[in-house]
Amino acid sequence: MLAALLMLVSALSCRAWYTRPAASAPVGRGAISGARASRFGEGVSLFVGSKGLSIGTPVPEGSPTATAVPNAPGAVTVMRVPILMYHYIRLYRDPRDRLGQDLSVTPENFIKQVEWLTSHGFHSVTLRTVVESWKKGRPLPEKAVVLTFDDGYEDVYTAAFPVLKARGLVGVVFAVSGFVGRSGYATAQQLGILQQEGWEIGAHTVHHLDLTGLDPFSLQHEVGGSAADLTELLGQRPVSFAYPSGRWNRTVEGAVAAAGFEAAVTTQWGIAIKGQDILALPRLRVRGSTSIQAFEAILTPATH
Ligand SMILES: [Zn+2]
Repeated sequence: MLAALLMLVSALSCRAWYTRPAASAPVGRGAISGARASRFGEGVSLFVGSKGLSIGTPVPEGSPTATAVPNAPGAVTVMRVPILMYHYIRLYRDPRDRLGQDLSVTPENFIKQVEWLTSHGFHSVTLRTVVESWKKGRPLPEKAVVLTFDDGYEDVYTAAFPVLKARGLVGVVFAVSGFVGRSGYATAQQLGILQQEGWEIGAHTVHHLDLTGLDPFSLQHEVGGSAADLTELLGQRPVSFAYPSGRWNRTVEGAVAAAGFEAAVTTQWGIAIKGQDILALPRLRVRGSTSIQAFEAILTPATH
């Protein structure tokens, strides 16, 4: 009895990547109050708290593959999905542009990171797939990961796409619809190819403005307009949205919901968990300075 109790405590204290039957999941936005509070600046520890609020099925330490609990024959419900955030994949060494360097992961480092993911059993999925799983109970790979690329720079097509395609992986581009085809940005044709190859093209407004400072008309234009633009360009309505610079509030979120988006991501740090506000999912930012050791550390909470 004591041994069983100790095992349970050990399993709970480990940040287990675990799953549970969908029926026991909190449903609806903000069902986990800890997750809602996390939107306002608290760190990753809150997500551990959120997990603690969820009565789940912890996975014993050292069993990273035992991560899924059958929900129905052939289907699993993955409760925690790391969403990685990238911007540029490029070699960039302008010492005067520290922000640009921070946003730029070298192709060499990107390959190492992707190889780490595949060698550790991760399977890339789109946010659309996560939404379908979390809302409709469709299955996800046991160790699902989402690779997002903000702003729709050209190198997502020239640098990231070949690396992922060679390994059978896909990503999500958050395109700024008014910048598509501009110098340095992917063209509509390139985005179309990515979409055909299984990538998801999500929206990131029309002009990359801070949405929290806009009047209602401009807000609607930036959010709804980006959905309309991408629908016209790509023939498919986007389901996911990324807030520029992670800036959002209730009004902005309302506009995103009103425009028909089913998921939205912030720049808040954390692993996305089913039951959180699906229009304010946290992400894990990969920086230019992120070493492979740091990358491993970022994803370790998702594997243990
Ligand atoms: Zn952006």
